[in-house]
Amino acid sequence: MLANSGQLSAISHQHSALATPSLTTDDRRLTTHLVDTGYCLASESAMIRGGRRRRIACHAPVALLGHPAHGWTLFDTGYAPRILDAARGWPFALYRLMTPMRLGPRLAVAAQLGALGLTVDDIARVVVSHFHADHIAGLRDFPRAQFIVSRAAWDDTSRRRGVRALLRGVIPALIPDDFAARATLIDRFDGPVLPALGPTHDLFGDGSALLVPLPGHARGQIGLLARGERGDLLLAADGCWLSRSYRERRPPPPLINLIADDPRALRATIEKLHDFARARPDVAIVPTHCAEALGRELRRESAALRAMQGATASAQ
Ligand SMILES: [Zn+2]
Ligand SMILES: [Zn+2]
Repeated sequence: MLANSGQLSAISHQHSALATPSLTTDDRRLTTHLVDTGYCLASESAMIRGGRRRRIACHAPVALLGHPAHGWTLFDTGYAPRILDAARGWPFALYRLMTPMRLGPRLAVAAQLGALGLTVDDIARVVVSHFHADHIAGLRDFPRAQFIVSRAAWDDTSRRRGVRALLRGVIPALIPDDFAARATLIDRFDGPVLPALGPTHDLFGDGSALLVPLPGHARGQIGLLARGERGDLLLAADGCWLSRSYRERRPPPPLINLIADDPRALRATIEKLHDFARARPDVAIVPTHCAEALGRELRRESAALRAMQGATASAQ
């Protein structure tokens, strides 16, 4: 059974019709906007220890972050239809078998930018949380963007081909040929310290976007704490799959953990997210594939847009 996917697409559609994001004029805060790019089906029992044996929709949203001086940044690029071609033939067809995908040309983030008044050329940079295919399938749609990624993630990924890549959830054909030339590799995390999660990398040097290591799930994975207009947002990538995971301290089951880069570090990251959430209850934590978090944030965005439009209408 699918959980939430119909409800989410309704929210998403309503939201896109309302949304016309513009850069914030507050130089300490970012405009933030989540865009859903499609979903795959997975068993809840594989995503969280003690989860039910039912299929749930794993959405792959990305975040658009607008900075008044540095323009637009994407956090991940989600699904794009090219993943279906890239995952043909041995061994990558196994990826399609393992994660049945529901996506389409209109769901790619590049295709949704127009409705938001933006083009792919408006995207100055893409932060790559990690190289799993569901986070990077849209990379080739941004030929001018700079890439921000951890050195550990790139060093591990760039060496892998064929089965060795697939075992890490990587489909090399999705990575632009000039990725290295356009990439800034982050290996120093000596910026502002977050409770439990530790030191960060201050992307713009003004505290508005802090990159934070979330090790364990994939080599060199990073999240991003955005100081957003509606409050702080922790884009937690696959630091955990479901919000219940960090809230209830329930990692994926041991068998699934075996395919993680470092199962012990994965469990430690979930504990840190738990502690961070207690220390900073004001921060909205968004694990990429958590439908509960995505629905909540899309509803918040829609409510804020409606309030803004109401204020504009009554001022006219
Ligand atoms: Zn992943
Ligand atoms: Zn993922």
